[in-house]
Order: sequence, then structure tokens, then C-alpha cells
Amino acid sequence: MNESHDLSQEQLASNLTEVRLRIAEAAERAGRNPAEITLVAVSKTKPVELVEIAYNLGVTDFGENRVQEALPKIAHFHPAGLRWHLIGHLQSNKAGKVAGSFAQVQSVDSLRLAQVLQRHAEEEQQRLSILLQVNVAGEASKEGIAPDQVIEMARQIVALPALEVRGLMTIAPLVNDPEDVRPVFRELRRLRDRLRDEVSASAWTDLSMGMTGDYSVAIEEGATIVRVGRAIFGRRPAI
Ligand SMILES: *Cc1c(COP(=O)(O)O)cnc(C)c1O
Repeated sequence: MNESHDLSQEQLASNLTEVRLRIAEAAERAGRNPAEITLVAVSKTKPVELVEIAYNLGVTDFGENRVQEALPKIAHFHPAGLRWHLIGHLQSNKAGKVAGSFAQVQSVDSLRLAQVLQRHAEEEQQRLSILLQVNVAGEASKEGIAPDQVIEMARQIVALPALEVRGLMTIAPLVNDPEDVRPVFRELRRLRDRLRDEVSASAWTDLSMGMTGDYSVAIEEGATIVRVGRAIFGRRPAI
């Protein structure tokens, strides 16, 4: 049983309108231009038909967390102007599959993975856009670089010529009140500002933070990319 097939085109369109409105409202509260915030629609577990509907409603960026699940969807649907983002943990042995398919890997969480991606991108004579995933809250269950190791690791990763380092990504802890994770978003932004000062002025543009439960707060704290799944595509089956 796949609940997503129950989602009508009308429902998807109305979900999307609601999310775009809330993005605009949060941007306005923060005195920001909503156009500087990219919505990544997270289509994991959902059929590619829903991606096509969302694309026809103007969504250009889609997020998947598993390479194996994503590759057939990407092969099936990759019109010009659509960008696929890898947002889940990537094992080094699958890193060879991402360079030609994904526009960006948001989940780079080790120097070793960056080095392997560098090698594959170089082989394919491509540059790969990446974000460094930071485990701001220090949750044992989550991937990500420890905050106190980010600066040193970033220094080594920006030196890898086939990788285009664009910024930082984090996944906030699951909470009932999104206000509880505001400090997590603030901390990621502070780290980004330190990287600008201490590592390189140019590479650190993007802050990918905020999901269905907390994207408004993330935007207030400076998110340039929000990754929204359920609020657009509906609930996912429990796994
Ligand atoms: C699933 C997922 C999302 C989207 O979560 P929703 O709560 O459905 O909005 C965002 N980021 C990552 C890394 C995810 O795995």
C-alpha cells in the first residue's frame, strides 16, 4: 500500500501553495527576500509521478535520501533545469554513482567521503556541488561532522578542486515546538559565518536547514535552502 497514490494533483497543488506562502511569510518576518530561499521538495518514498506533477507546478529542486531509490527516479525524470539533491548519508562505495546524477550532495559528513567524491568527479571531469552536514545538536543517532571539527575539515575539503563547496546542512532534532530548535539553526549560521572569516570568504553561501516541522523558524534564522517532504507530498509510510 502506498499512501502517496492517494494524493491528488489538486491536493499537491494546494499543499505547495501553502508551503510557498509560509516561506514568504517567514522571509518577510526576517526582513529577507523570499527569492533567496530555495525549496527542495523531498520526494523520498514517493513515486516519480508526484515529482513530475510538482515540477509542472514550478518546483525545480528535489531531495532524495537514498541513492538506490533515487537513481531510477532520476533516470526516468531529469528535464533541463531540474536539480536532484542527495540529502541522506552516502557510503563511500556508492559515491561513484552520484556525480553524473545529482546536482548536489548535501550530506558530506567526512573528509574521506569528500576525497572519494573528489576522485570520482575528477575522473568524470565534472565539478560537484556539496554541502557539509553538521551534527549541531550532537545526537548520537545522526550523521554529521561534530561542530568543533568543522573548521579544520572544511580547510581540507575546500582544497579539493573538483568539489564546489557551497555551505552547510543540518538536521535538527525532532521536537513538538519548533522554537526548541531555533538555537540549532542559529548555531549553524554562526559556524557558517566563522567559515567565511577563517577559511574562505566565498564558498559559504548556503544554509540548508528546516523541514516540515520547523522550516519557518529555520528561515527566520537564515536558511537559504529548506527541505520539505510531508507538507508537500503528504505523510510517508512508517519504516
Ligand atoms: C526526510 C528528510 C527531510 C524532509 O522531512 P519532512 O519532515 O518530510 O519535511 C528533510 N531532510 C532530510 C535529510 C530528510 O531525510
